[in-house]
Amino acid sequence: MSTSEAPAPPETTPKDKLVCDESNDYGSGAVPTEVMTAGRKGIDPQRLPLPEETQPLKIMWRYVIVLGMVHLVALAAFVPMWFSYLFTWSGFIAAIAGHFLFGMFGITIGYHRLLTHRGFKCPKWMEHTLAMLGMCNLQDSPARWVAIHRMHHQHSDHQPDPHSPLANFLWGHVGWVVCRHKDLDKTSHYERYVRDLLRDRFYLKLERKDGWFFVFLLHGLVISLIGGAVGYGVSGGDWGQAYRYMLSWTVWAVAVRTVFVLHGTWSVNSLSHLFGYRNYETRDHSTNNWLVALISHGEGWHNNHHATPRSARHGHKWYEFDMSWGIIRFWEMIGLISDVQRPTKASVAGK
Ligand SMILES: [Zn+2]
Ligand SMILES: [Zn+2]
Repeated sequence: MSTSEAPAPPETTPKDKLVCDESNDYGSGAVPTEVMTAGRKGIDPQRLPLPEETQPLKIMWRYVIVLGMVHLVALAAFVPMWFSYLFTWSGFIAAIAGHFLFGMFGITIGYHRLLTHRGFKCPKWMEHTLAMLGMCNLQDSPARWVAIHRMHHQHSDHQPDPHSPLANFLWGHVGWVVCRHKDLDKTSHYERYVRDLLRDRFYLKLERKDGWFFVFLLHGLVISLIGGAVGYGVSGGDWGQAYRYMLSWTVWAVAVRTVFVLHGTWSVNSLSHLFGYRNYETRDHSTNNWLVALISHGEGWHNNHHATPRSARHGHKWYEFDMSWGIIRFWEMIGLISDVQRPTKASVAGK
């Protein structure tokens, strides 16, 4: 692991010192990242242009259609005339459970802290399981997600950043998802960001023929069928109730939950680069936002994260609750994982 020290800013108190993680790469096959040097100077929030690679804007209609459909199905849960038919407590509880199982274990811990930043080491079976859980959130293949996020860290809030909200809020939240980016439209274009991942045939196969998307569809089908079985069971064999529960679980435990996790992740990119407080003078606009931290299992402590990208712990202060870190810490204590990355002393001392 290479080590690069934060440049010592001249004539500053330790409190004002720029800080950055001592490890600015993301594991083997790493992306060369710029050291955070510029603070926030030089960024004009009103004038950050969209990334050159997205221009001219071309809509990726298949993303629009799929994401539009899952939003429409989720909205069906809240249509007054359908609400009482579609709502079941078991479907609602399954949605909350799925938020943790797929959102926290799959995206926050799996895609982000493990695959992107290599914040800890774990057995392959466990890594692949977490990646599979991540695919159940309609957030793209592991390799493409990781490539986009590493690109974000490399250029955060500067023009090549694929999703800076300094261009505009809607772009940072969801616009970037549905617009074609020349460096991200083919595996061969972004493989330089994810060579470490693509050496594993598991991830390489998922890139082909949208394998990750079939994992998403399959998990939705399984959840719907479980809902049907629950309905059949609790009603004592009533097929009408089995059908109702199947729809309820599809709407709540698949669609509503997926949409909630999607917006939680997107909010990290949008809200946590605009609103909140900062513990560290990073070169971007990243902020610590408690609301985003709450809905994304600790990812909202995003300024801490930009200051110490490899750290598996995002909440640095005692009041910055980070549930994902609690899980990682537990796994470490029982010996399931190792080499857990923590905020460096230098970075924590920076404030
Ligand atoms: Zn960020
Ligand atoms: Zn990150």
